[in-house]
Amino acid sequence: MKNIFLFGECMIELMTASKEASSNTLKQSFAGDVFNTAVYLKRTFPQVKVRLVTAVGKDNFSLDMIKYFESENIDTELVFQSENKIPGLYSIQLDDQGERSFTYWRENSAARSVMNFIDEPATELLTSGDMFFFSGISLAVIQPEDRASFWQKVVQLKTAGVKIVFDPNYRARMWKDKDETIQAYEQAFKLSDITLPGVEDFDSLYGINSVEGVIDFCQSYEISEIVVKNGPASVITILDGEKELHQVTPVKTVVDTTSAGDSFNGVYLGARLENASIAESVDKASKAAGFVIQHKGAIAPKALFNEFVQQL
Ligand code: ADP
Repeated sequence: MKNIFLFGECMIELMTASKEASSNTLKQSFAGDVFNTAVYLKRTFPQVKVRLVTAVGKDNFSLDMIKYFESENIDTELVFQSENKIPGLYSIQLDDQGERSFTYWRENSAARSVMNFIDEPATELLTSGDMFFFSGISLAVIQPEDRASFWQKVVQLKTAGVKIVFDPNYRARMWKDKDETIQAYEQAFKLSDITLPGVEDFDSLYGINSVEGVIDFCQSYEISEIVVKNGPASVITILDGEKELHQVTPVKTVVDTTSAGDSFNGVYLGARLENASIAESVDKASKAAGFVIQHKGAIAPKALFNEFVQQL
């Protein structure tokens, strides 16, 4: 059985239940980039063992969150419970025009202290994985003083033969400044075997706004598999120096683009773990992302997604 560990934060999500700005009813669920990736990977490839590496609390929201992970068949052996912290939270508000705005309360979340729990036995378990996935958001979440020990662990995993996978997923407001991000990303690119950048991220962080520019940047590191997501336009891949262009079929009615990149990542990595070719993996991943953006919220309804998977 193939085995992937995904390292990051899951938050409590509160969303306005109706479009009316005056509505004070909120719908509560759970989401976060790495968690979303895990959900879509497991739903599409149930034969892969999908394991989250995170920390939550001991409060009722945390207990519900763990139950939710389990309901999605995500392994929780490395979901740790902090004694005194609780999960991060964010809200999505819709204005009268349907425009979304996000507010976050995550500065003191349990997930920020996850490195405190990665002891020897946890590290040993991590080295048994086929892949270890983390994102730029995962990096921003862990305490800056814990980053050195995070890199140490990543080196240990890479040395043990675990494939290191990085999605830059840049969120400016989570970092002190760009220099801090660039320094952390430098380490991430140096250690990655697979990277899945979006062109938009590179534009805001490095001022690189073309696919070619992103490829040149990534190729300056020893990354064997580069997957550049360029929204509805195309996906460009480079495997061991060999470049391929993949068309994306644009979706006519986009309802909510949340989780487009996350669902793409999950399905792509699942397909690669199951030894699918790059072209087949991109095709499945693009179709899944296209499906997800036709539904509201980060996590598309399970039954509908499972129906979609049957035709994939
Ligand atoms: P993110 O900004 O969340 O990282 P992207 O915009 O790069 O995500 O999109 C991720 C993937 O979703 C793309 O590579 C593509 O396969 C798919 N995708 C995005 N927008 C569309 C669209 N309008 N129609 C169809 N597929 C799309």
